[in-house]
Amino acid sequence: MSLRSKLMLALLLTGLASVALVGGLTYISVNAKVDSIRQQQAAQHFHSFMTAYLAEYGDWQTAIASESFDQFVQRRQARAPQGERPSDLLERMPPEVDRQSHHEPGDGERRGPPPHAAPPHNGPQRMLPDGYPRHRPPPPGAEQEPPPPMREAPPPWQPEHPPPHEARPRGDGQPLFRFLLTDAEYRVLLGAGLASNGSILPVEMRKGLRPLLVEGRTVAYVSPQSVLTPTPQEREYLAAIRSSLLAGVAAATALALGLGLLLSRSLSSRLSYLTDAVRAMHKGSLLQQVPVRGKDEVAELATAFNAMSEDLARSHAELNASHQTILQQAAQLRELSIRDGLTGLYNRRHFDEQAATLFNQAARHQRPLSLMIGDIDHFKRINDQFSHAIGDAVLRQVSALLRDHVRQSDLVARYGGEEFVLALPETAGPQAVALCEKLRRRIEDYPWQDIHPGLKVTMSMGVSADADSGSAEAMLRQADALLYQAKGAGRNQVCFA
Ligand code: GH3
Ligand code: MG
Ligand code: MG
Repeated sequence: MSLRSKLMLALLLTGLASVALVGGLTYISVNAKVDSIRQQQAAQHFHSFMTAYLAEYGDWQTAIASESFDQFVQRRQARAPQGERPSDLLERMPPEVDRQSHHEPGDGERRGPPPHAAPPHNGPQRMLPDGYPRHRPPPPGAEQEPPPPMREAPPPWQPEHPPPHEARPRGDGQPLFRFLLTDAEYRVLLGAGLASNGSILPVEMRKGLRPLLVEGRTVAYVSPQSVLTPTPQEREYLAAIRSSLLAGVAAATALALGLGLLLSRSLSSRLSYLTDAVRAMHKGSLLQQVPVRGKDEVAELATAFNAMSEDLARSHAELNASHQTILQQAAQLRELSIRDGLTGLYNRRHFDEQAATLFNQAARHQRPLSLMIGDIDHFKRINDQFSHAIGDAVLRQVSALLRDHVRQSDLVARYGGEEFVLALPETAGPQAVALCEKLRRRIEDYPWQDIHPGLKVTMSMGVSADADSGSAEAMLRQADALLYQAKGAGRNQVCFA
């Protein structure tokens, strides 16, 4: 995976995680808060209506025998002045009391008015503090009579027999809240959860119970037990939150992708400059400069790369210069090693090497080869008569005459002292003798008096063109013997066998 892809993936995951975290926590907290508020409202309404219900009939048994709690609530709501009706939530909240399941006490329940029941009211109707009229309680003995059919056909939003202490169910048939109702001695009147009707509520479950007061006396306790599904309106709120969450995820995705593209494009282009520059350096172009943008790590890398490239290029140039100097010095050393310092001609060692090579080539290809060795006549006398410096000048001038009158392919060397040698490839004996005769005359005819008055220089030569002698060394010995002959014959002449 490329760096660009990794960067974009990291941005995408970070954005989605942030939105999911914030959105999810918001969704959960809002959901919990909505449920909590609704539960409190429902409990408050249940508490208010139940207080009024018990205040009107005096006690629980009388109340459920006279009128179902649900009908009581509907009646109270119908009588409420316009504008003072409970809210929609309140209208949905009142629990329905099912007389069929609660007007008959359980085995442990006592019959008749409970000790905590409110005293009967025989006076005129009185108004409760909430403004609802109080009904006159039923006459004594009415509880023995069969209760009138209090319930007609249930409203379409009610199940046929919902539990009496549950908030009104919604369209899916599930109640919103389940309330626990006990009398003043904690005997369960409307069970919920583990607390069944008629049982005494365990002490540990009494925490949070809210007393239900009638004329200053606690006649019952009530407690909400659970929270169920939200209302359609709340569902709309939650759906809106979910939509916002999805929109946030989409926006975060788009933002992450956009930012990723922007950042990765800038990053990858700058890295591409570096990559191209490194490749160019690898091919030999050491001086590379990449653009430095921004002040981040990539910019630092580019700056360091540019400095490194400059140093490398400078070092390489210096190394190249040193290498060239060394090569030149080596060439000079080699030249010095094969040249004679006084005359500039090749020295004896180099001549011997080259003469052997020339001899082998000539022998292999059956080509002619001639060697000449010459010696300045009475050179000791020149030194003695004109000085050693004049003798050196004579040596340099003889060298120049020899070098200037042979071919490029011929080899001229100072063999030692005042002795000189020539190697003449592709030259047979007669041509070699002719060349040497010409050289001898050039030396003899040179205006030596320009160097020193009275100076005269001649040279004796021996020429060998015998390729069958077996070696260049043998040919040189033969030429030297001929030189000796030339000396013996009076000097200033060329001898050839
Ligand atoms: P010949 O005609 O028999 O050759 O007599 P020659 O005097 O030339 O021969 P010899 O060998 O007796 O003398 C050679 C002299 O050359 C001796 C030496 O001092 C001189 N010589 C050798 N090398 C140099 C040099 O480099 N410079 C000078 N000025 N003289 C040199
Ligand atoms: Mg000599
Ligand atoms: Mg000599």
